[in-house]
Amino acid sequence: MDKPKKEPTLLKPNQDSKLCLNCGFPNRNTDAQCMYCQTSLVEDDGLFNWLRQTYYVLRWRWQLKQKRDTLESNPPLYRSFGFFVVGVILSGMGVFVFTSAISQNSFSSGLIALVLVGYGFVTLKTLFSNK
Ligand SMILES: [Zn+2]
Repeated sequence: MDKPKKEPTLLKPNQDSKLCLNCGFPNRNTDAQCMYCQTSLVEDDGLFNWLRQTYYVLRWRWQLKQKRDTLESNPPLYRSFGFFVVGVILSGMGVFVFTSAISQNSFSSGLIALVLVGYGFVTLKTLFSNK
């Protein structure tokens, strides 16, 4: 029979620290409580302990998911701000061109103005319907 091969040390979990199941804080192996959130780190095989650990893991995952969802539902501020600026500039240019078109009685300038206002309006609408 072959001797059981030694596990490569790199693949072993870090024996010097014990990750807190509640907050992920790396505690010393000898600690009985998490230094950060005071959760008990003592492991036993009881059903209650298993349920508690499962609960912590599920809660942790749920919190991560919540965090990700909040990030996805809120686009970066600079992006919304960019949309807003582009929309306002296009609308403003449109209004400006439109007024000068009226004063010059120019039909083609009026069309350009309408296109600009339309683009600006669509951009602003995209921004506010994105919420
Ligand atoms: Zn903790």
